[in-house]
Amino acid sequence: MTQWRYDRLTWPEMNTAIARKPQPVVALAIGAVEDHGLHLPLSTDNDILESVLAECGRQAGGDLLVLPTIPFGLDEHHMDFPGVIAIDIETTLAYLSQAAISVARHGFTHILIVNGHGSNQSVCDLAARKCVLATGAICAATTVNAAVDPALVADVLAAERKGGPGSVGHACEYETAMMLHAQPGLVQMDKAERDIGQLKLKYFNWDHPAPSAYAWQDWWSRFSRNGVCGDAAAATPEFGRRMFEVTVQRFVELVREFQAIAVKPRVDHH
Ligand SMILES: [Zn+2]
Repeated sequence: MTQWRYDRLTWPEMNTAIARKPQPVVALAIGAVEDHGLHLPLSTDNDILESVLAECGRQAGGDLLVLPTIPFGLDEHHMDFPGVIAIDIETTLAYLSQAAISVARHGFTHILIVNGHGSNQSVCDLAARKCVLATGAICAATTVNAAVDPALVADVLAAERKGGPGSVGHACEYETAMMLHAQPGLVQMDKAERDIGQLKLKYFNWDHPAPSAYAWQDWWSRFSRNGVCGDAAAATPEFGRRMFEVTVQRFVELVREFQAIAVKPRVDHH
């Protein structure tokens, strides 16, 4: 099997990967260590990222190289829950962008920052932008966690979730189901709760996949009893398997689409 772990290559093998045509896409994941209700471990975001990206790496036949996950992100707003690791905006942006820029400096032209934790999203967008501006590489931000942003799998999520409106948010029907599929030994299903405390207003909507007209992130202990936002009790391993498989299949497609984007020369019109 072709090696898909970026850091498991030797440096001469790295040169071979860089010279390969088409060149592999490099995935740089960033997650979080944060509360996920009474029933899921703090590693949930990282577990979902790593299980999905490992399977994508295996299936991509050399078109995807996956870096080790950056395990911590922007999490001050969860600090009322024991164990959470919070890194500030500036440090997260600097660390993440410097990792992406390092990859580009070796000659990789297509880099995907893969976010596993909602509040990292704007930082991931800016880190990708910094990498493009600093190196000319094609660097974009995306996610494989539908509770962060369901764009990749919104149709399946909407059609097949069982918990109804508000069921998908955080430590929710979706994340619990993904863990029941990927890491069943880490799920204490007897403690899984339904807690839909997030606001649903005319222009603000925390439920996925429906969009919201404004972005706002409150302190979590103000609206969630135990760190759940959604209906964790509705999760099943079957839903998790379905979401996992469709995510892997579409993300590999996304990688190949992204890989084919041409790196065009800039034009100085002065
Ligand atoms: Zn999560």
